[in-house]
Amino acid sequence: MFKYCPNCAAPASKFIDGKKFLCEECGFQIYHNTAAAVAVLLEWEDQYVLLKRGREPGRGMMDLPGGFVDPDESAEDACRREIREELGIEIKDLHYLASHHNTYPYKGITYKTCDLFFRAKCCTADFVRQESEIEEISLIDKGQLPVEDFAFESIKTLLKKIV
Ligand SMILES: [Zn+2]
Repeated sequence: MFKYCPNCAAPASKFIDGKKFLCEECGFQIYHNTAAAVAVLLEWEDQYVLLKRGREPGRGMMDLPGGFVDPDESAEDACRREIREELGIEIKDLHYLASHHNTYPYKGITYKTCDLFFRAKCCTADFVRQESEIEEISLIDKGQLPVEDFAFESIKTLLKKIV
């Protein structure tokens, strides 16, 4: 995870069980814990809202609205915040569905996440796209989800159970 210890700058280090960095020189340790993330199967009438990713990882591939949970934030609040940011809308009838583990490579570091999936409804379909992160917003009929076009395994696993 680190080439050098962030505390004493010794080159020797261990990365244990995929989560714990330990410096054998000074004893410094830090946990690279699984991060919580949310994704929402978002409904508008008889359709689902899908996003085409505008950024790596998985640029150009399909995604559900969502993202990482911020410090001191609930998963439900993360769903509402992310959808406000990405789509510019409010949601209703938010319900938890299931969770699946995922791997998220970003700028040379591999993050392990626990993705929490929710279902919700749009209050409106007047979307305002977050241009920095999202290439395209589309509505697709239920039962027509392009499961293999999604960027992340956790979402594919969820959708295969649902469709
Ligand atoms: Zn050290």
